Amino acid sequence: MSDNVSQIIQKALSENRTLLLEPEAKEVIKAYGIPVTKYKVAKTPEEAEKFAEEIGYPVVMKIVSRDVVHKSDAGGVKVNLKNVEEVKKAYKDIEQNVKKAVSNYKFEGMLIQEFAPEGREIIVGMTKDPQFGPALAFGLGGIFVEVLKDVSFRVAPITRYDAEEMMKEIKGYPILEGVRGQPPVDMDAIIQILLNVSKLVMEHPEIDEMDLNPIITYPDGAKTVDARIILSKQ
Ligand code: ADP
Ligand code: MG
Repeated sequence: MSDNVSQIIQKALSENRTLLLEPEAKEVIKAYGIPVTKYKVAKTPEEAEKFAEEIGYPVVMKIVSRDVVHKSDAGGVKVNLKNVEEVKKAYKDIEQNVKKAVSNYKFEGMLIQEFAPEGREIIVGMTKDPQFGPALAFGLGGIFVEVLKDVSFRVAPITRYDAEEMMKEIKGYPILEGVRGQPPVDMDAIIQILLNVSKLVMEHPEIDEMDLNPIITYPDGAKTVDARIILSKQ
């Protein structure tokens, strides 16, 4: 079990929050060996510029607030910012957009993160079944899950064999193998993510729901660009 993870969870619960902020959720999954984009939380525009420099352009900027669950719906995400001017503008735009979308939201910072280049998107989720407990879900990102419902499920804990099956049984699997001369994505990285999510939710039963959406996969490795973790009410 990870102490750091327990601390993050306890802090949220002590503040009466069931939603972990994206940087907290990323800290949690990072502690379980799940790859994430580099990030830092800026509290001022000046800090945002400094962190963008440190992380290296292009960067992504996202609102951090306990009152904003779906960040892009609130105009709280700007991707592929290429220079300091774009960072300055994004900071102002996000502040304005979110204020309009969610009145009186609590501003907790701007998440500056590495921009993950295009790859093949997957999602990994966990929901709790009243009878069977934590159930893991796997699918390709976007329309594949939302429209086509092409998702595989397993009750946690899972074995390596289960993870492999989960990956192979979705209809979209050939996309991961590569079509039209594309190389396959890093299947081992995906299997490892599924195993690590399984371990995390088994060791931290306070987690009620989890959504890594999307994880961008490449022929070599993968990166989680968004992580949502919801705790159960105590
Ligand atoms: P939301 O809370 O709306 O789900 P996300 O963090 O998922 O916000 O951001 C919305 C979209 O922006 C993602 O689905 C992804 O396509 C893109 N995105 C977010 N972060 C990154 C990143 N670091 N690199 C590249 N694209 C990103
Ligand atoms: Mg998302």
